[in-house]
Amino acid sequence: MTGSAESRGVPIITVKPRGTSSTCSICGSKLIENIYRRLRCPRCGFEADRDTVAALNIEKRALEKMGGSLTTPTAPQMTDVDPNR
Ligand SMILES: [Zn+2]
Repeated sequence: MTGSAESRGVPIITVKPRGTSSTCSICGSKLIENIYRRLRCPRCGFEADRDTVAALNIEKRALEKMGGSLTTPTAPQMTDVDPNR
């Protein structure tokens, strides 16, 4: 019997990338694809490309798993431009 890290109770941070590229990393809403690879949150106005969203969400999930919490979102503040002006 070989004792692997898993059976020894060592915490392993595994984050499944599934769904991370389509969820808002700030409010958790489903993101809408604007232009190619560009996602926008209809609720809070967060906007980023797919890779950035996925990276942010993976980071967030990893932190949550470790028991930490994100007090301030690391996402850059975007100026909300009203298209119907
Ligand atoms: Zn949002």
